[in-house]
Amino acid sequence: MSIFKTDIAVIGAGPQALTLVTHLLQKKKKMRDRLNAGLSPGFQVFDPSGTWLAQWHQQFAAQEIPHLRSPAVHHPDCNPHTLLTFADKRQDELYNPYNRPGTKLFQDFCETVIDRWHLRDQVTKAQVVGLTPQKEGFRLTLADGKTAIARRVVVATGAATAKMPDWTKQVSDYPPERLCHAQGVHLPALPTLTGETVLIIGGGLTSAHLTMGALKRGARVLLMGRRQFKEKIFDAEPGWLGPKYLKGFDTEPDWHKRWHMIQQARDGGSFTPEALTRLRKFSRESRLSLYEQCQVAKARWQGAHWQIQCDNPAVHDCFAHQPIDRIWLATGTQLDITAHPILGEVLAQYPLQIVNGLPVLDEHLRWPGCDLFLMGPWTALQVGPVARNLFGAKLACDRIVPALTKSSLARAA
Ligand SMILES: Cc1cc2nc3c(=O)[nH]c(=O)nc-3n(C[C@H](O)[C@H](O)[C@H](O)COP(=O)(O)OP(=O)(O)OC[C@H]3O[C@@H](n4cnc5c(N)ncnc54)[C@H](O)[C@@H]3O)c2cc1C
Repeated sequence: MSIFKTDIAVIGAGPQALTLVTHLLQKKKKMRDRLNAGLSPGFQVFDPSGTWLAQWHQQFAAQEIPHLRSPAVHHPDCNPHTLLTFADKRQDELYNPYNRPGTKLFQDFCETVIDRWHLRDQVTKAQVVGLTPQKEGFRLTLADGKTAIARRVVVATGAATAKMPDWTKQVSDYPPERLCHAQGVHLPALPTLTGETVLIIGGGLTSAHLTMGALKRGARVLLMGRRQFKEKIFDAEPGWLGPKYLKGFDTEPDWHKRWHMIQQARDGGSFTPEALTRLRKFSRESRLSLYEQCQVAKARWQGAHWQIQCDNPAVHDCFAHQPIDRIWLATGTQLDITAHPILGEVLAQYPLQIVNGLPVLDEHLRWPGCDLFLMGPWTALQVGPVARNLFGAKLACDRIVPALTKSSLARAA
């Protein structure tokens, strides 16, 4: 059994982790110098893929997403303008409004960030399967049986648990590819859906991407949302990126009220205006049927197709008589820190306040009582509604990096 030793272990190599590492290097010249000299910089990143942003690229490829929803100034590098400079000769890959970068442009830019900060070989190919607090720091157990010891740990694993509607628990005996959460749909692997009817459930941008993908492959699509479909340019209003809304959020002492502010700001899923315009166009051409304020009440696999009952009497009959070949659930992910696959031992040793699944961390996003920091969706009670987004990583770094680099902000023993 080999053992790695490091000062800071970063678990996950997605955009959140990459943002942390660039901001850490910018702050710590000593780390930069060590990295440039080919020495261990004092941090070690773990991800099962062994590369940066594998999950991000996989998601964009699987849903054939043409461009980001966020503007070009949101990315993992420290200077917000570097992507726009990089795009100087690729202006046609910036989408209006707000210069939203094309998928390939963003990917190529991130590669330059990885190279410029000398991070190409800094991801250890390993899944962390256990995190055990020790007298000093943590022991990380890796899936291959190896162990790592770290004084401090940053968990940047994203939120992987798919949210499944209740009715899915009552269905059985169906071919697995006929009922999939969006996380399991890989459009490029489905060459044609001609003659098929696909029911897509959800009202967020993911459901729009999957709808476009199914239509492109010749399917007829039924898109069902439990509320009225809404259009919004971003997930949350830009006021949540700065003091306009965050000032009031930061001064709210009641964590439950903060949780409600987050729900209100994100307000479930929404389409971008151009996505909704495209959906309505396909609906007018009768290739797509839109069902709003409608939910599946019951589903039964009948050997060759699904039979669906919905809860909206106005369209009840439409569903009763149409055979459906596939159901795709664009129903999002769920957050419950008690179900996080590697935080069980930390929770048992350092119990903390939890509000509707989210942990109450300190102002540096540190788990009370130990040197464990969280990033991404888990930090929403402190960072606000954009915690899970690219800009949320920047807001998280403003809090975590000082605590990792200044001894005056170290945890009191
Ligand atoms: C389809 C889609 C499009 C999006 N588009 C945008 C956008 O345009 N703009 C925006 O701001 N936000 C967007 N988001 C939201 C958000 O920015 C992304 O979800 C982003 O990938 C989150 O980054 P992350 O680093 O938290 O998670 P991830 O990208 O999921 O990375 C987490 C990494 O941690 C690894 N990991 C997990 N568990 C372990 C473990 N136990 N051990 C080691 N490694 C582990 C995973 O393998 C993964 O590589 C989008 C989200 C989705 C799903």
